[in-house]
Amino acid sequence: MMGKHNSFEIAQRQFDAAAELLNLNDSLRKVLRVPRRELHFRLPVRMDDEHVEVFEGFRVQYNDARGPCKGGIRFHPEETIDVVRALAAWMTWKTAVVDIPLGGGKGGVICNPKQMSKGELERLSRAYIREVCRTVSPTSDVPAPDMYTTPQIMAWMMDEYEAICMTHQPGVITGKPLSLGGSAGRVDATARGGMHVLREAAKAGNLDLSKATVAVQGYGNAGYYAAKLAKEMLGCTVVAVSDSRGGIRCDSGLDADAVQAHKASTGSVKGFKGTKQITNEEVLELDVDIIIPSAVENVLTGDNAGNVKARISLELANGPNTPEADEILHQNGVLFIPDFLANAGGVTVSYFEQVQNASNYYWDEATVHERLDVKMTKAFNDVLAASQKYQTNMRTAAYCVAVARVAEAVTLRGWV
Ligand code: GLU
Repeated sequence: MMGKHNSFEIAQRQFDAAAELLNLNDSLRKVLRVPRRELHFRLPVRMDDEHVEVFEGFRVQYNDARGPCKGGIRFHPEETIDVVRALAAWMTWKTAVVDIPLGGGKGGVICNPKQMSKGELERLSRAYIREVCRTVSPTSDVPAPDMYTTPQIMAWMMDEYEAICMTHQPGVITGKPLSLGGSAGRVDATARGGMHVLREAAKAGNLDLSKATVAVQGYGNAGYYAAKLAKEMLGCTVVAVSDSRGGIRCDSGLDADAVQAHKASTGSVKGFKGTKQITNEEVLELDVDIIIPSAVENVLTGDNAGNVKARISLELANGPNTPEADEILHQNGVLFIPDFLANAGGVTVSYFEQVQNASNYYWDEATVHERLDVKMTKAFNDVLAASQKYQTNMRTAAYCVAVARVAEAVTLRGWV
């Protein structure tokens, strides 16, 4: 997943660019460049055949000046501590850019959930919570789903935490199933929030979305809902999608739900009827108006960014571009809507979930959608204004908005 690029070094380079523009003092730079706390541990888990496997896990609390740390847990075979650090940093900037009263954190376990049974996954999930319960709570650090972790996994984790605390504590984790204190609108929130900022970007760039073509890389939660909502909410034509096994193209447009049903039965979008086969990489280089990277990190680099033909890249994946890619895209006039702005809809509705858990009163879906739109629209326009003020690309502009907010909280607390 990291390949030759170190995501945490990239996150620090991105931060440094904003720190320069904001003229941050050295003390603030020292505090904000590194995570505040890290927990590293090993989890012994009994597998179905009775042997015990030992999994390595992490929880990184990057910064909690603005509120409890917030961020998902990933189960991935190529997880590394530096990826978790980068993701925890991006969560800090993400909660700040949408201006919700939370900090940033992230967790991960090195494992391959695709090769584990349901029982093994449950035992791993419960073991993870038994380890992090010493630092996780509704008022200190609140996990959520991320790559290969699901509402069911959130339910097991909440149950384990409540057994330890001997009280109901639904606010300890978000992205739960609806029947256990989840929020209406959480499941498609990442993609929906992305559509709100895409709508604003199109307005700013005079792009008629009803005539726009879209290619989506990745067909997990974010990618599938992006393909579905780009058509339903904005009237775009989705001409290509992909997953790690390959991509498909159909110029008259794809039906996201039919593709999802095909993936559910075959394991991949590949081979969907009436489509041409392309590669996962080609999806980002197609002659379309909008690309939506929704898979892993570092997919656009100095090697391929020059081949991007789209006008807009909506980054639903975390960390899809290397700094070299940013430079090339910016020079070529491609507007990239940076990850921690574009995909902030997920954590925004997680925050709504926590608010509902704390008050024990639940909102209807229309209310969630409306409040999400308000947050995302304001965030996009704050970042656009910063890009004009600082004469910089949207990523550095988003950093300027977010870092200034966190720096203010850190300073007011007297940490520097
Ligand atoms: N894992 C998601 C993200 O990267 C959601 C985090 C959350 O809801 O706390 O933004």
